[in-house]
Amino acid sequence: MSARNLLVTALGLTCVAVLAVINIPDRLPKLDLVERASQFAGALEANAPYRPPTVREGENALSGLIPLLTGGKDTQSEVKTLTPLGFTVTEGRDATTDRRFVMAATEPGDERGWGMYIADYGATPKQVIEVPHPNFDLDTEQIGVQLYRALPGSAVLVAGAHRRAANGLADVAHNANSLFNQVATALARKGLPQVQLHGFDDKSLPGTGVVVSGGSTPHTQLHVQIADRIEADGTVVCRAWQQSCGNLEGTTNVQGQAADSMGTVFAHIESDGSIRSDPVLRARLVAALAAALSSSGP
Ligand SMILES: [Zn+2]
Repeated sequence: MSARNLLVTALGLTCVAVLAVINIPDRLPKLDLVERASQFAGALEANAPYRPPTVREGENALSGLIPLLTGGKDTQSEVKTLTPLGFTVTEGRDATTDRRFVMAATEPGDERGWGMYIADYGATPKQVIEVPHPNFDLDTEQIGVQLYRALPGSAVLVAGAHRRAANGLADVAHNANSLFNQVATALARKGLPQVQLHGFDDKSLPGTGVVVSGGSTPHTQLHVQIADRIEADGTVVCRAWQQSCGNLEGTTNVQGQAADSMGTVFAHIESDGSIRSDPVLRARLVAALAAALSSSGP
């Protein structure tokens, strides 16, 4: 081999080595988180088995999930904690934002249907986005994950069972023993505001697009901001602190009751079917929520 060829070969090998180093972070799989959440939601059925975690299971799950949702980077130890509880932990990059995420999710149909939890990897969370009724309040998981994309530093909680499963025991918004509630409460205890996404049938409150409520918490500047931003798009908003909103105020919601006892912010958002099923209107709702959350501060 001539000296010139040797030099070319050496340069080539160096380039390959450099590229390999640069490529390491990109080995994380790209995943469309909205699509993934929708597949998860779509697989939840009303007649599936469900049981809440035992006290021990709840404690173990919290010891894995809370570090994961609050910027923890030791995913290997979280895998060890969460796998025996039926969770699969996935690391990757979101296909749309390219942001790195960690997700822990149970298997739809498993009686331990304890949820899908998504964290912005390594980020200190600023808010908690909650989807308690997937595949019942249709498309709310899409609103939730789209809001996650719009607001870096969000923790997303999606219930892991249909709200009607096990005769309604799986309704995490009304079962304080649910893991969803335990995670929501642990995050609220850290002072994080919660935004909980629901959906109502257009016939339940005709003429109204969105109901904004504090559940059983007092309304705050965030609630006013959310209502103002949504209204600015021409959507009719019912403000639960000013009007009666057809029993869609979420006053019996257990995450709201826990937030009230801790003095933390809880926003209960109900949107009608025509908004949730229309990608353009849904995106507008997400943008309004994101603008309100990012401007109202902690
Ligand atoms: Zn709901």
